[in-house]
Amino acid sequence: MKMTTKHVRLMILGTGPAGLTSAIYAARANLEPLVIEGNEPGGQLTLTTEVENFPGFEDGIMGPELMNNMRKQAERFGAQFEIGWVTSIDVSKRPFHVTVNEEDEYEADALIISTGASARLLGIAGESELIGKGVSTCATCDGFFFRNKRILVLGGGDSAMEEATFLTKFASEVTIVHRRATLRASKFMQERAKENSKIKWLLDVTPFEVHAQGNKVSALEVIDNATGEKQMIETDGIFISIGHVPNTEFLQGQLQTDKMGYIVTDGLTTATSVKGIFACGDVMDSRYRQAVTAAGSGCKAALDAEKFLEESSVHDWSATATL
Ligand code: NAP
Repeated sequence: MKMTTKHVRLMILGTGPAGLTSAIYAARANLEPLVIEGNEPGGQLTLTTEVENFPGFEDGIMGPELMNNMRKQAERFGAQFEIGWVTSIDVSKRPFHVTVNEEDEYEADALIISTGASARLLGIAGESELIGKGVSTCATCDGFFFRNKRILVLGGGDSAMEEATFLTKFASEVTIVHRRATLRASKFMQERAKENSKIKWLLDVTPFEVHAQGNKVSALEVIDNATGEKQMIETDGIFISIGHVPNTEFLQGQLQTDKMGYIVTDGLTTATSVKGIFACGDVMDSRYRQAVTAAGSGCKAALDAEKFLEESSVHDWSATATL
């Protein structure tokens, strides 16, 4: 049986601050965008507690509430939402072909990609098998389960400092484990962590293996970089906070990406290497990665898509996209 293909003018992939802001702008421009929500509707901010640095909220706002407000704002102007995961796209000709959940087929005159980024893993023995059994990539989701327990936070960036500080609300002791002697985190975040008496430090060691007793994390084995000696650190939980990887797998190399996999955009615009496809938020930004910068780039993507659709309506639609 032949499956029907739904045609839309603009499809937005992802519902973090970038995708939802582009949905608000595109809906207000009467582009009737269809937004595919992804596996984590609302994106990474739904995994956080209080957001203190999004302008306009003097006393801060809870991450899930902020995202919910943005979604409702987009809906108010006519954006349509569908829960689903984009499994593949074909950008070799316009309209672009998008497959959701391996079975729902769409054609879109323009695409905005705002699929964000996901937590990076170390790739050491025991790590992925013990996710949910003491290994976590989200302090705000899982911190609650570690009341009065000993926790390790892996990483030396702002996220590690933030997560370690947050986890002291629950844990009896939090040790930051970092692979170098110096931290990558900003001075302010470092100082805040250093002033916290519950936070201990284990620097210049390389994580080697996660050990378990029964099916629960019991220790992290590390190698001392100076001596090469292995050391076992007993713990109840390990929070991995070593950055993110962009969610670009579904593109299968059809758009230009940088060496880390982030989509490359053209200068100050959100235009990608394929005409009619725009990228915004963490999927194209490995540098700033803030909710407000993602939202700003979402606005730009909607304006770029609107201009493209206006201009291309007078052109020949059968033209092949330029890769
Ligand atoms: P990040 O700045 O890239 O830091 C990642 C950390 O993980 C680095 O210390 C890195 O070590 C370590 N790491 C990476 N791969 C590793 C591996 N395979 N094994 C062991 N360690 C590894 O990432 P982030 O902390 O997630 O921050 C991302 C961006 O968000 C930054 O721009 C940051 O400023 C921003 N951010 C801001 C806030 C805030 O202001 N409230 C909060 C969170 C994040 P090396 O240092 O040795 O490379």
